[in-house]
Amino acid sequence: MKKIFFSLTTVFSISAFSQNFTQAYQNRVNEISQTNINTTLTEFANLGVKKTGSVSNNNAFAWLKTKYLSFGYTEGEISENAFLYQGNTTKNLIITKTGTTYPNTFVIVCGHYDTITGPGVNDNGSGVSLILEMARILKEVPTEYSIKFINFTGEEQGLLGSQNYVNTVVNSTSPKMDIKLVFNIDQVGGVAGQVNNTITCERDTSNPSSNNAASNTITQQLMNCVTLYSPLQTNLSYAYASDYMPFQSNNEVITGIYEYNESTKPHTTGDTYVNMDPVFVYNVGKAALGAVQYFATADTNALSTVDCPPEKMLESLKIYPNPANDFIQIEMINSNLIDFSFTIVDLNGRTLLQTKNEKRINISKLSSGLYLGTMTVEDQKVTKKIMIKK
Ligand SMILES: [Zn+2]
Repeated sequence: MKKIFFSLTTVFSISAFSQNFTQAYQNRVNEISQTNINTTLTEFANLGVKKTGSVSNNNAFAWLKTKYLSFGYTEGEISENAFLYQGNTTKNLIITKTGTTYPNTFVIVCGHYDTITGPGVNDNGSGVSLILEMARILKEVPTEYSIKFINFTGEEQGLLGSQNYVNTVVNSTSPKMDIKLVFNIDQVGGVAGQVNNTITCERDTSNPSSNNAASNTITQQLMNCVTLYSPLQTNLSYAYASDYMPFQSNNEVITGIYEYNESTKPHTTGDTYVNMDPVFVYNVGKAALGAVQYFATADTNALSTVDCPPEKMLESLKIYPNPANDFIQIEMINSNLIDFSFTIVDLNGRTLLQTKNEKRINISKLSSGLYLGTMTVEDQKVTKKIMIKK
């Protein structure tokens, strides 16, 4: 019965909410890296049991922040939302990417990074790895709506981080934060040894019911994106017991994804890399990035390496802050698609630093003074002055 009901719903959705395939969205979806996902999951495992308020929990927060900085997000785009849990400080991490047309309307993409009892590689290292990949790939992509990528803490103790965020940020801003939708990613790791080819998409069926129809609509859109941009099949279910619920209670429009083959390992020491399916995470990432681009109305005329040659990339080069102290940030269109290298020389022509494909460059070892930074893309170069002030 369940299956028949779901497939009828899907058929209905295709005619009711037709969505077109967008090649630019698929190009970015194709940038999702299985290697990056595997690396993130391994590092997440190595951080141990990230129980809310513990040292490991704070270490995971710092590790996450370093990741976003390495993608080129600035301190100004990163904020923290702290609260006390059993006398210890724990923090939500929020990355804001400002929209081009609706800067004050937000698409929230969220998942928790805290774990309980075990390393939580599936619950919710899987979601963490995808939020990171999406933030990396979308860094230089214009979106009409603003996006907030949020890594919540305190989920395992009863959605404490997301509830704190709703209370102290969403409802405490004047006017109240305008949220287009909340897209939650929790436990999308699948089960090792099983055929993980289906993702559960969750709509709001709880009270208050005034936001349920809108949730149904965006969940149908999410399911269409799963079909358009990933090899996965969809299963429609209902939202419960994760970080979208405090938003739901606040009358926001929510949707979410959760594994269809449900692992028995979460909240045990067995929630490890070997007990999940990293390829499933990769495929879920394709679906999720397709959906986030659709929800935030990402630019559909993405430049490719063909129509953005090296000289055009170099024209767009920005290096900041200037003067700089301990790091510089590199910004350049298409920098995810093509190799680049950066060299810093002093005024005597001595090479002091050389990096490859790095957008945040540590210059803490260089003393105050004037330097020359040269960006190289293929056989093209551009040189800019860099002032370092300690
Ligand atoms: Zn979870």
